[in-house]
Amino acid sequence: MSVTVPTTRGTPAAPQAWRGLEALARQDPELADLILGEARRQADGLQLIAAENFASPAVLAALGSPLVNKYAEGYPGARHHGGCELVDLVERAAMDRARALFGAEHANVQPHSGSAAVLAAYAALLRPGDTVLAMALPQGGHLTHGSPANFSGRWYDFVGYGVRRDTGLIDYAQVRALARQHRPAAIVCGSISYPRHPDYAAFRDIADETGAWLIADAAHPAGLIAGGAAPSPVPYADVVCATTHKVLRGPRGGLLLCRAALAERVDRAVFPFIQGGGPQMHTIAAKAVAFGEAATPAFTAYAHQVVANARVLAAALAAEGVTVTTGGTDTHLVTGDVSGLALDAATARGRLAAAGVVLDVCGLPHGTAHGLRLGTAAVTTQGMREPEMARIAVLLGSVLRGDGPYAENSAARAEVAELAGAFRPYPEHI
Ligand SMILES: *Cc1c(COP(=O)(O)O)cnc(C)c1O
Repeated sequence: MSVTVPTTRGTPAAPQAWRGLEALARQDPELADLILGEARRQADGLQLIAAENFASPAVLAALGSPLVNKYAEGYPGARHHGGCELVDLVERAAMDRARALFGAEHANVQPHSGSAAVLAAYAALLRPGDTVLAMALPQGGHLTHGSPANFSGRWYDFVGYGVRRDTGLIDYAQVRALARQHRPAAIVCGSISYPRHPDYAAFRDIADETGAWLIADAAHPAGLIAGGAAPSPVPYADVVCATTHKVLRGPRGGLLLCRAALAERVDRAVFPFIQGGGPQMHTIAAKAVAFGEAATPAFTAYAHQVVANARVLAAALAAEGVTVTTGGTDTHLVTGDVSGLALDAATARGRLAAAGVVLDVCGLPHGTAHGLRLGTAAVTTQGMREPEMARIAVLLGSVLRGDGPYAENSAARAEVAELAGAFRPYPEHI
């Protein structure tokens, strides 16, 4: 695939289109061009990838700070390196804010990613060879839930549960039957594409009955949970894994929450077990900033708007001929089958990409075909609301069918440009 980078070289004013890039543009115009080009790509298209969002300028400022220079192996008050007095306060602030935000007894803010958080949760509770019950990958499980290509599938013995054929909802009777049959050491709830809330109490009950740990992989809904727009697994799960960059809108990274009784096991699993080096203090500072933002009434309103937008988008896409999985959504996620439009998902994604709309292809439970997965976290951060969701659904339907108002690529691109122009993600910058 060829990529057009809007070049700014030789036009000294252009790098100022992103504040702070001027010095980089003077030293390294090649990279400044690429960074500015990507910032423009994000701002000029419609970003419907369900796992993406726009971090605030405050989060970006923390990420680009001299904290990146600091080695701080260990935990606050117990570091291998000197000079950690201030970064200790940074990490303590991130931990305190995470605990308060999620009502958790303990938080570990060091995992470099969501996958690292899951790896640490397994390391804290399991031994290699243990049996783990998790959502099967074709039904919506993540790579870290037992893919043979991932550490999880190689080091643990995974059994997969799924969703009901008739409703698309998690089959709790099957989860219970598999737990009774296989006696897993842990049960994992969490998915990359399930658009409904897991029933955490039901999972807890099954885990208790069968003597399993319960691990909630809340990588996707963590931001909705923080904003009070989704139920929390914290009272039910032994360990909760999350990312900080999806709906939560912070820096790219992971987070672990648990009860005080498991704090030491979880902490040791992160350092020194899976991350035997320094934590990323700049990212931890940015996580603290994001947790601070997520504790505000504005974020609560945001999280609820994300869900309201996804509901409108799901209903409007159904009206356009997309078969929406589970008939709708309770979250930021919408998945759907486009085979009713006589399209395969890869072609559908390509057509939309040509119009400037970016989303993912995903597996569909029980389906042989793939579907589309989209989310409303990013467009909601841009300020779009229900009327814009209706416009987006009409745009998508028209482009996918190749008829209606946006059958011509130029018309589709103009509609994307109008929406993107009216809702700039970084109005101060570009
Ligand atoms: C996104 C995701 C992860 C992985 O997060 P990364 O930061 O990309 O490693 C893990 N589990 C689930 C359910 C996810 O959706």
